[in-house]
Amino acid sequence: MEQKIKAYNNMLELIGNTPLIKLNTITESFEGNFYAKIEGFNPGHSSKDRIALHIIEEAERKGILKPGDTIIETTSGNTGFSIAMVSIIKGYECILAVSSKSSKDKIDMLRAMGAKVYVCPAHVKADDPRSYYEVAKRMHQEIEGSVYINQYFNELNTNAHYRTTGPEIWNQTGGAVTHLVACSGTGGTISGTARFLKEQNPDIRIIGVDAYGSVLKKYHETREFDPKEIYPYRIEGLGKNLIPTATDFDVIDTFVKVTDEEAAHTAREISRSEGCFVGYTSGAAMQAVKQLAEEGEFDANSKVVVIFPDHGSRYMSKVYSDDWMREQGFFDTVHSEIEEDIQY
Ligand code: PMP
Repeated sequence: MEQKIKAYNNMLELIGNTPLIKLNTITESFEGNFYAKIEGFNPGHSSKDRIALHIIEEAERKGILKPGDTIIETTSGNTGFSIAMVSIIKGYECILAVSSKSSKDKIDMLRAMGAKVYVCPAHVKADDPRSYYEVAKRMHQEIEGSVYINQYFNELNTNAHYRTTGPEIWNQTGGAVTHLVACSGTGGTISGTARFLKEQNPDIRIIGVDAYGSVLKKYHETREFDPKEIYPYRIEGLGKNLIPTATDFDVIDTFVKVTDEEAAHTAREISRSEGCFVGYTSGAAMQAVKQLAEEGEFDANSKVVVIFPDHGSRYMSKVYSDDWMREQGFFDTVHSEIEEDIQY
C-alpha cells in the first residue's frame, strides 16, 4: 500500500503562521490579557523570514531576478540570515554588509548559511562611505545582475507584514485585539501589521518601541529629525539613526523608549518565567508593556498582543552571557542580588 508522505517541500513553506501564546507569569500583576506572537518559530528564527521571502518573490514575479543572480542587503543579522536561507533554496548568491554591533554568533551563522559577509563600523553616520548602507550601495552598483533589498526604504517590507502578520494576529485573536506593542527598526513589522489591524478596527492602539539613542520617537512627535537624539546604544535591531520610509508613522499611536539595561533583564525574565527563549528586542517589547501597564494604559478588557521578533539562541554571547551583562554594568544596580543567586 502506498504511504502518504507528510513532508514540507522545503524550509520556505514553514515561514509565517507563527503561534500566539498567552503570557501567564510575567504579566501576573497587570490588568488585562497579554499574548505574545513568537516570531522565533519561523524557520530562520525571526520575523525577517517573512520579508525576505516576500521581497525576493516579488522581484521574481517582476522578472528582476534570474537564477544565479546576487542578492545584497544591509542587516543587523536577522534579515541576512533569512535572505541567505531563501537564497540557498532559490539558487541565488547572497552578499551582506553588517554592523560591527552585531553579535559574533550572528555573523558566524550568516557565513554558515553560505553568505558573503562584510563587517562595517557601527558608529559612523549613514552617509559615511564606511557605513553598511554605503558599502551595500557600492556593491550593488558594481555587481551586474544584483538586487538590493534595502529593507529600510522598501515598501515591500511593510507589505509583507500587511499581508501576513496583520491577518494572522486578527484571526488568532478573533478580532478581539485592543493593543499591539511592537519594536520599530525598519518599522516594517509595526507599520504593515498596524495598517491591516487599523483597517479592521481603527480603535486598536498601536504602540511602537524605540531605544534611547534613536530618533524615531521624537520624529513621531515632531515630524522633525533631531540629530541630538542619536548616541550609541546596545540593542540590535531596535530604533534608528535615520528615518526609514518603510515606517508609516501615521498608523502608530505612540512610541515608548526602553533602556538597554531594562530590556536585557526583561529578555532574561521572559525566558525564565514563561519558558520562552527570546532575543534582546523581545525583552525591549516586553519592557515597554511593563512601562505601559504601570502608566495605566491597560484595563481588565485589554487584549494586548506583543511581538517577540526573534529567538534567544542568537544572544548567547550577549544578553544570556553573565560576563557580558557584567561588562555592561547591568548587574550593578537593583538586579545584582537576583543575578548573583543564579550564577554557577
Ligand atoms: N528585533 C530584531 C531582533 C530585529 O532584527 C528587527 C529588525 N531590524 C526588529 C526587532 C524590528 O523590526 P522591523 O525592522 O520590522 O521594525
